Amino acid sequence: MTLADISRHCHNITTSYLASSGGSDIVNSTKQAIRLTRHHLLEEVFRRWDPFGNQLSFSYNGGKDCQVLLILYLSCLWEFFVRNTGFSQYGSQYHRFPLRSLPTVYINQAETFSTLEKSIESARERYFLSIYESPRNQTSMPEAFENYLELHSNTEAIVIGIRHTDPFGENLQCIQSTDSGWPHFMRIQPLLHWNLANVWSLLLYSNEEICGLYGKGFTSIGGINSTLPNPALKIDTLSGSLTLENRFKWEIFNAYDKQTSSENVNVSQLSDADEALLQSTGQSGYHPGWFLTDDSQERAGRTRK
Ligand code: FAD
Ligand code: MG
Ligand code: MG
Repeated sequence: MTLADISRHCHNITTSYLASSGGSDIVNSTKQAIRLTRHHLLEEVFRRWDPFGNQLSFSYNGGKDCQVLLILYLSCLWEFFVRNTGFSQYGSQYHRFPLRSLPTVYINQAETFSTLEKSIESARERYFLSIYESPRNQTSMPEAFENYLELHSNTEAIVIGIRHTDPFGENLQCIQSTDSGWPHFMRIQPLLHWNLANVWSLLLYSNEEICGLYGKGFTSIGGINSTLPNPALKIDTLSGSLTLENRFKWEIFNAYDKQTSSENVNVSQLSDADEALLQSTGQSGYHPGWFLTDDSQERAGRTRK
């Protein structure tokens, strides 16, 4: 596998999703969301910053949002490559994908779950991320980015998987510069218009491995001392929690490249430490994270910011 291979794979995933006749309201609105993100990346971002130069970086923290955005980003990277070779007088077999790894930045803020750290490791390998990891907890986020820019001085813009429904996300735009108090660079935010259901729909359809904590009722993952499974997903043993249902059965059963149609979801294995933690603190008996589609409850498992 190379970055070119995985980019082509991601392109196949999105093309297949867009061509599907899944038909549910969620699938239809996700197709619209994908089209707008593709437009942002291909017609606005990649025209301004060459994705094969070293001006663009990707911010990655192992969460579902940056993973779904990464799939879209790589998909567009492949399309951009193919389009450009199409304009050339030489056949595409004479062109080589110009990038071997994707400049990526991970700010290690607080102690987090080892299952999430392992997911970031797997993503590093699977998606050919060349990750700069800031030293844990030594600096604020703006300072950490200042350090990153000192080492990667060609960086002009950083891609972020933030959405309008995130705290302080309401008035953001796809392309904007950083606020005062932050080092100067452009923020690229092509996922703003996505809601929780859109994220789960494409991610579950993609069949890419997602962080195992999502399978245990987590919906938003932060520090180990400030994140619990989402209380809205607690299985009520008395009533059987009749109000919640899996709205992504179509995505799961028809997931891309799935060998046999089944209800299995490609979640990473929980680390022994996290397994023990959830057991010892009684944090079990939750529906998977994708049973929650109410954006206003996404962070209900956060005990503090
Ligand atoms: P999450 O869903 O956890 O994160 C949203 C996205 O932010 C992720 O998908 C990922 O792309 C990125 N991200 C979050 N945490 C990390 C991390 N630890 N390491 C790497 N990437 C991460 N806030 C301002 O008020 N003004 C700014 O100018 C500003 N500039 C920013 C520039 C960058 C490159 C980033 C990553 C963040 C910036 N922020 C800024 C903060 C941003 O608006 C969010 O508050 C922050 O990303 C945390 O997101 P979250 O935890 O609410 O949501
Ligand atoms: Mg998020
Ligand atoms: Mg966060």
